[in-house]
Amino acid sequence: MQRKIGVMGGTFDPIHHGHLVAASEVADRFALDEVIFVPTGDPWQKSGKDVSPAEDRYLMTVVATASNPRFSTSRVDIDRSGPTYTADTLTDLHSRLPDAEFYFITGADALSQILSWHKVEEMFELAHFIGVTRPGYELVDGHLPKGSVTLVEVPAMAISSTDCRERVAAGRPVWYLVPDGVVQYITKRRLYQP
Ligand code: ATP
Ligand code: MG
Repeated sequence: MQRKIGVMGGTFDPIHHGHLVAASEVADRFALDEVIFVPTGDPWQKSGKDVSPAEDRYLMTVVATASNPRFSTSRVDIDRSGPTYTADTLTDLHSRLPDAEFYFITGADALSQILSWHKVEEMFELAHFIGVTRPGYELVDGHLPKGSVTLVEVPAMAISSTDCRERVAAGRPVWYLVPDGVVQYITKRRLYQP
């Protein structure tokens, strides 16, 4: 049988429970065999902003997903040079797993911008898109091609990486917003400290 693979792309700076709940919920809803988390290389939407080294974001993602047998983390984007485009991510994963069927998971904020993404047409041929709810954003499929996107309600987690970084910078806790191992990794590597 064709394997069903979820793909969760993100900057993951740091990865938090909003990302993990969304992936877990979609995996259950669509009976996915696996969800691959793909930290971005150089995030083109965030160029100019300070982003932690790809290796730190990758390792935090590994730590956060290690305990779930159906979650894994891919280096495809961080090992490709140049900016990360989702169409390239999906093309690379497709060539590694040619028989798999892909489900690209994206939050309501990212979904509303999807038409501005690079090589949109190609993206929709490579994966089915799953838009998930996110507190503070309206979940709409806008003018996306008919049948290419499914909207899914997931438990509301009012967590963002931006807020986590600001908390660490201000000496406030991120316990229970991110997995314990990620709290420890942030401390060990002194990330987000001014
Ligand atoms: P930042 O504040 O740095 O932009 P973020 O919290 O938005 O970080 P990203 O790495 O930008 O995290 O997001 C990766 C993906 O996860 C995007 O599709 C985003 O919409 C989705 N996502 C992030 N946080 C949540 C959340 N709390 N609930 C649902 N989806 C989320
Ligand atoms: Mg974001």
